Amino acid sequence: MSAEETVFSKIIKKEIPADIVFENERVLAFRDINPQAPVHILIIPKKPLRDLSEATAEDSALLGELLLTASKLAQEEKLDDGYRVVINTGTEGGQTVFHLHVHLLGGRRMGWPPG
Ligand code: AMP
Repeated sequence: MSAEETVFSKIIKKEIPADIVFENERVLAFRDINPQAPVHILIIPKKPLRDLSEATAEDSALLGELLLTASKLAQEEKLDDGYRVVINTGTEGGQTVFHLHVHLLGGRRMGWPPG
């Protein structure tokens, strides 16, 4: 399945609803439908990148913007004691939606190593 055809591309096009917390021309952030922590937000590029391995040097600024958006949202969500940022990549990485996304997780103590 190409990135153009995922549930996230439908959220970008507003074809299906989402609890959107941030949006600009390049980036969209919305609450995960199946939260794994009190705060669980997904930050995605509007550009249809399948996963991190598909990104190139051309996407450097966009990748930086995804992380800075995560940091900004963490501040807004008052995750002052810390949080976790995760990018699952590929099947072995636990990725299930093949449109690049950054998970912002917080509001509870995280374990390590991740499962
Ligand atoms: P990953 O396993 O890293 O690919 O993460 C995909 C995430 O997308 C999971 O945490 C899902 O709960 C979440 N998800 C799937 N469909 C939706 C949706 N319609 N709205 C919000 N989050 C979703």
